[in-house]
Amino acid sequence: MEGLRKVLALEQKKKFTDSAVVGGLDTYLLRLARDARISPSHRLSRVLQSLPPGGYRALHPIQRRRVVEELLSAVENGLPPPVAADSARPDLRIVRQVERRQAPERTAAPKRVEAMVGTLDSLVTALTGVNRPTEAKLAKVGAGLKTVRDLLFHFPSRYHDYSEVRPIAELVPDEEQTVVGEVFSGGAGMIGRRRRGTEAMISDGSSMLRVIWWGQTYVARRLRPGMKVALSGRVSAYRGRLQMENPEIEPLDDQSIHTRRLVPVYPTTEGLYQRPLRALIRDAVDGFGPQLDEALPDAMRQRLRLMPAQQAIRQAHVPDSREQAEAARRRFAFEELLYIELGVVRRRREWQAAGGAPRLALPPDALRGLIASLPFELTGAQSRAIDTVLRDIAAEVPMSRLLEGDVGSGKTDVAAVALLAAVASGYQAAIMAPTEILAEQHFRTFNQLLEPGRAGPGVDGAWFQESGPGYLALRPPYLDRPVRVALLKGSLKAAEKSAAQEAMASGDVEIAVGTHALLQEGVEFKRLGLAVVDEQHRFGVVQRAALREKGESPHVLVMTATPIPRTLALTVYGDLDITVLNEMPPGRPPVKTFKATPQQRARAFEFVRERVREGRQAYVICPLVEASEAVEAKAAVQEYERLQRDVFPELRLGLLHGRMAPSEKDATMRAFRDGGLDILVSTAVVEVGIDVPNATVIMIEGADRFGLAQLHQFRGRVRRSSEQAYCFLLSDYLTPDAQDRLRIVESVNDGFQLAEEDLKLRGPGEYFGTRQSGMPDLRVARLTDVDLIEQARDEAGRLLDEDPELAKPEHTLIGRHVQDLWQRISAEVS
Ligand code: ADP
Ligand code: MG
Repeated sequence: MEGLRKVLALEQKKKFTDSAVVGGLDTYLLRLARDARISPSHRLSRVLQSLPPGGYRALHPIQRRRVVEELLSAVENGLPPPVAADSARPDLRIVRQVERRQAPERTAAPKRVEAMVGTLDSLVTALTGVNRPTEAKLAKVGAGLKTVRDLLFHFPSRYHDYSEVRPIAELVPDEEQTVVGEVFSGGAGMIGRRRRGTEAMISDGSSMLRVIWWGQTYVARRLRPGMKVALSGRVSAYRGRLQMENPEIEPLDDQSIHTRRLVPVYPTTEGLYQRPLRALIRDAVDGFGPQLDEALPDAMRQRLRLMPAQQAIRQAHVPDSREQAEAARRRFAFEELLYIELGVVRRRREWQAAGGAPRLALPPDALRGLIASLPFELTGAQSRAIDTVLRDIAAEVPMSRLLEGDVGSGKTDVAAVALLAAVASGYQAAIMAPTEILAEQHFRTFNQLLEPGRAGPGVDGAWFQESGPGYLALRPPYLDRPVRVALLKGSLKAAEKSAAQEAMASGDVEIAVGTHALLQEGVEFKRLGLAVVDEQHRFGVVQRAALREKGESPHVLVMTATPIPRTLALTVYGDLDITVLNEMPPGRPPVKTFKATPQQRARAFEFVRERVREGRQAYVICPLVEASEAVEAKAAVQEYERLQRDVFPELRLGLLHGRMAPSEKDATMRAFRDGGLDILVSTAVVEVGIDVPNATVIMIEGADRFGLAQLHQFRGRVRRSSEQAYCFLLSDYLTPDAQDRLRIVESVNDGFQLAEEDLKLRGPGEYFGTRQSGMPDLRVARLTDVDLIEQARDEAGRLLDEDPELAKPEHTLIGRHVQDLWQRISAEVS
């Protein structure tokens, strides 16, 4: 040890030029690790392990200096105790690492680390130091870190880059930055007028920084005045001063800064701090990383320049540089996307190869008759979409088409043509909507389409008795036969449900309109020729497949008002062809949209009152309450009562929320539709649903809580006629970011453009909450990885061309991963 100290001192004197010992410091350290039997838990070992593959030699002089200082301080803290005599062999971990650094091209399989027992699938308790409480906490991180493999694949959300710490005085707005300073003051409470959180002042000698953690009052418990912390996050300007909102915070000791430049920061859970989690994952990487199998064939990896698995797992957690970290992430992201694509592409091929879809056609007279009966002219986009769909369903290859069009672009009429074609060809058709309200509306719409002028039947069950048990027989003037339509939804009485189901199974019902209830077991069709899925963004690949399975090989049409970015078109929608309705029916002016401050609320209410006086109707949307549907319903009830009592005592108000009985909902909706109510107070349930042309104003409370695309969907509710419509976006507390977002909604009227903005601002995770999109949880890949997704798609196609069953030995591992992934996805949604 004395020798080591001398060498290090000399190296220091020689300005870290790696010239203190002949052969370089790496060789010296290797020998030392072998001969001195340093315990792996000794600080010295930790420093050695933290060296990159190129060893000390590969480091920048500034980094070398840190390493030497670290080693020196480790040596000066006393001689490391030698390892007990019975295990008197060098610590393999260190030796192997140093050896690998010295001979990076070595090809022989690495020796297993004997210190760790178990496999990648062992529970986390296989790692030293993981006790029950820790195990329980790990289980709460993300989707649950239960096995060693879970730990290895728990990737950092970011890296602290301690070489780029900025003085507070030099921070610039709108960039991610890291500062290191002392807590001056900090505590939890109300910030501004409405929101709770933690607020702290951090000082680093150059200046003070205000830091806010919205909603996270627990952060305050960790803050102590005088404590040294590192903060990483986006800096924003608020009222002319810089602040950080919701940064990553980490208490500091000097070691974490000095040993490594890039320190991983992991997503974690309350009560599990970065440092122990980091140490644990580090142990998993050291001890179990070498067991990781390579699933990707060499040729593929070389073609795409992807890092080998073992190297990548190390670089993801202990990166040598940002570039290496990104290359590592890329490799696993690709792998993840490949498994998704293999599932999607294989599904699509199987469906298409199977063929056997019924050839559906609508007689030209019937088509003309249907179109002539509409009270409007089809738009060009609608006509083109109808042509495309009719062409698709005339073939034996089952249609898989996505119809994408802004709210109000008239997708329902396109679907109606296809549904009628199925009926005219002697088949059954089904249309599935995400909510009962929407299913009911479709039911009404089809009633009108199929028997124009017919008084709108109720949706409350009365129609059951009308023309047959479980369905309604309608007589389209343009078809030589009746069409029997049923409405299947969860809230039907058991007897009604089974009557409708029987009629569907026997083939009596030709068009089934319904919710998820259509997917349930026990729901059968005699000869399903076409399945339509409306507002597709609420359903995923798996539900689509489930509906498809209700028939032999039916045609499938899915519809969405949510614009699909290319990334999703290639993944969750990867089994579909896409048609866009890029034209709105003429004569509907865009909704005039205004952002309103709390002070302007009274004026907005006054505006609503005036419109009602003119005979119009209005919506008031309540803020989103995430706690639960029950809490949300309660908040809506309160808002409704307040408005009725204090603001609009002379007007007729109605209330709609998710907790109401379907019959109540229906009564309210009907009242609103028929003009019996002036204002409908509602939670987000109206997002997809109601079509009331006389409603021309919508007020959205808590507008900052909704996404841009969703705000646009709300606004679409009042863009239903040639009348000028208005939308007010209200919010009590607006962060600068929220201001910007609402400003975009004010000025942009194109749903597609808003969706892209939304994606940019909030990231795909929030925009397409995975549940909502039906996208499997992505661990590594991001929906913004367009290039990677395209590559994965190409490779999936190539692989399946070569080996459709993934049965070749070099593909069996891939096959297993694909199977696991899709099993997991199915389990999640069912
Ligand atoms: P979405 O695409 O949002 O599902 P809908 O199919 O519900 O839109 O249509 C919205 C409204 O526009 C309905 O009242 C429908 O009758 C009407 N509509 C559909 N197509 C046209 C058209 N070409 N011209 C005028 N109104 C139309
Ligand atoms: Mg619709």
